[in-house]
Amino acid sequence: MMTVLVLGGAGYIGSHAVDRLIQKGYDVAVVDNLVTGHRAAVNDKARFYEGDVRDQKFLNGVFDKEDIEGVMHFAAFSIVPESMEKPLKYFDNNTTGMVSLLEVMNKHNVKRIIFSSTAATYGEPKQIPIKETDPQIPTNPYGESKLMMEKIMRWADEAYGIKFIALRYFNVAGAKEDGSIGEDHHPETHLIPIILQVAAGERKELSIFGGDYPTKDGTNVRDYVQVVDLVDAHILALEYLKAGHDSDAFNLGSSTGFSNKEMLEAARKVTGKEIPAKMAPRRAGDPSTLIAASDKARKVLNWQPQFDNVEDIIRTAWNWKQKNPAGYDDQNEAK
Ligand code: NAD
Ligand code: UDP
Repeated sequence: MMTVLVLGGAGYIGSHAVDRLIQKGYDVAVVDNLVTGHRAAVNDKARFYEGDVRDQKFLNGVFDKEDIEGVMHFAAFSIVPESMEKPLKYFDNNTTGMVSLLEVMNKHNVKRIIFSSTAATYGEPKQIPIKETDPQIPTNPYGESKLMMEKIMRWADEAYGIKFIALRYFNVAGAKEDGSIGEDHHPETHLIPIILQVAAGERKELSIFGGDYPTKDGTNVRDYVQVVDLVDAHILALEYLKAGHDSDAFNLGSSTGFSNKEMLEAARKVTGKEIPAKMAPRRAGDPSTLIAASDKARKVLNWQPQFDNVEDIIRTAWNWKQKNPAGYDDQNEAK
């Protein structure tokens, strides 16, 4: 049986991908340097290799041992404000990491990669909803590093026939429904986990960044996709390449927008907690509205997301939070 190699499989999204792949009967190996990930998040049935994607000697060793049919590449840094202050950290880990990975894949004749791209590759959208063919003009180094990774894959396809699917995620949220794995970032920067920290009494209040945007209630509008639905699209994408289709890019979102105030109200309803909040200045680099056109993934990959309601998404995150108040409670480097 051939193996799916998941890079960044100890992270939030990667750990859900590993879990889902195993559930669906795939054989899975994981590479992660645990810089933001958690060893305890990785399903026991996956073989785990601790190391850095940029370390070609290490990576070649993994490819020597494993019989790999395809790669899912989640390993990256992804905090936008940090990327504004430390752009080179992002180009080094994300972009250089991709060069290293493709070199090793080419050497071992592995020809399929499913890649975590992002809405941040589009920058400030000219039209909503955002289509895959819209211009990609990132407004921060994180988005630029990911766009460069998409472009590098394109040329590696031309030269070596390494086929790729770039999946451009919008706002990923929630957790596996049984609450056994979930989101545990240090520092936490994402809206839903921060709201739930306030609900749990770990934070005094939510700061809503910006109330003067040209949206329905003045706060930013985002498109939320449940993490298990999101990883299912990766498995469909891998099967799509295995069926002989060509490289391509797909948005992954719900095609519906929710404002930050609406998200707060939804979380109040789900948790039954008051969740104190105050208005705060805009956060640098935030586009006003991001909503995906995601009919292409539905049509071409036959993606059928199960969650179509943000309250249900928040409920899965709240369940994880209540079952694991201290997250994975490990001491990873970032803690
Ligand atoms: P995460 O930080 O939880 O996971 C990333 C994982 O990669 C971690 O386990 C980390 O230890 C590992 N890693 C990082 N650099 C590495 C390296 N050089 N070598 C080996 N391992 C390395 O992040 P996440 O939220 O799960 O995001 C996963 C991917 O999805 C990222 O590439 C991110 O850019 C992309 N993405 C996330 C979102 C979101 O809403 N969370 C949205 C769009 C795109
Ligand atoms: N946000 C907020 N307060 C917070 C964290 C986030 O108001 O403490 C807002 C943020 O400005 C954005 C939305 O919530 O408008 C989603 O932010 P997140 O960082 O979760 O995802 P992004 O859209 O940046 O990928």
